[in-house]
Amino acid sequence: MDIEPLEPLPEDWQRMLCVVAHPDDMEFGAAAAVARWTGQGKDVVYCMVTSGEAGIDGMTPEECRGVREAEQVESARIVGVEAVEFLGLPDGVLEYGVPLRSAIAEVVRRHRPEVVVTGNFRDTWGGRNLNQADHIAVGRAVLDAVRDAGNRWVFAEQLAGDLEPWGGVGAVWAFGSPQSGHAVDTTETFDSGVASLEAHRAYIDGLGWEDFDPREFLEGMGRQTGQRLGVGLAAPFEVFPMGWGE
Ligand SMILES: [Zn+2]
Repeated sequence: MDIEPLEPLPEDWQRMLCVVAHPDDMEFGAAAAVARWTGQGKDVVYCMVTSGEAGIDGMTPEECRGVREAEQVESARIVGVEAVEFLGLPDGVLEYGVPLRSAIAEVVRRHRPEVVVTGNFRDTWGGRNLNQADHIAVGRAVLDAVRDAGNRWVFAEQLAGDLEPWGGVGAVWAFGSPQSGHAVDTTETFDSGVASLEAHRAYIDGLGWEDFDPREFLEGMGRQTGQRLGVGLAAPFEVFPMGWGE
């Protein structure tokens, strides 16, 4: 079977904002890439739309919220990310719509990133593995919010103080998309990516997946993608250019 080659992602940028639905989303596919970029001296900020408080069956959301936020802060620290924000929207029942776009546009305006990362928001992960509703809502809202952030007449109430419109996002990158055409070499930073996923200890234990091994899981995906990029290990991304004529 022919393997479809992937193109390397550009690295001529300085500021990245990652917006995902849940704590652990970045770590299931993008943390090793983030470790590479922070290692290059780039600034990366994480924004979690929810606190993943509905993610552990044996723990009430009230107990769970603090546990998962702490795990996320630690897993971000492992890959060189100091800034982690939680928007506090409700886990499991996010809706694509104007309130979600507004919340994300405000974060884009504050951080003024050149690249915004989100998770796969296609219907599946490839094959028949269905994606999850919050991931789909957030990814779609991220694409729109990036445009909203640049328009001073959209969510204009956010601009009453010091905040300015921000139209400087060149592209949105969705990691883990089955339609990925790009990838980044994570061979050197793979171990940090594994440690970052392992930091979600309570969550992984709560999943109750027999014999789930974070290293084995990430290595399987990483090798497949690496083969298509012509390196040992890599992470796949679908690129959505935000300008015209690209
Ligand atoms: Zn998730």
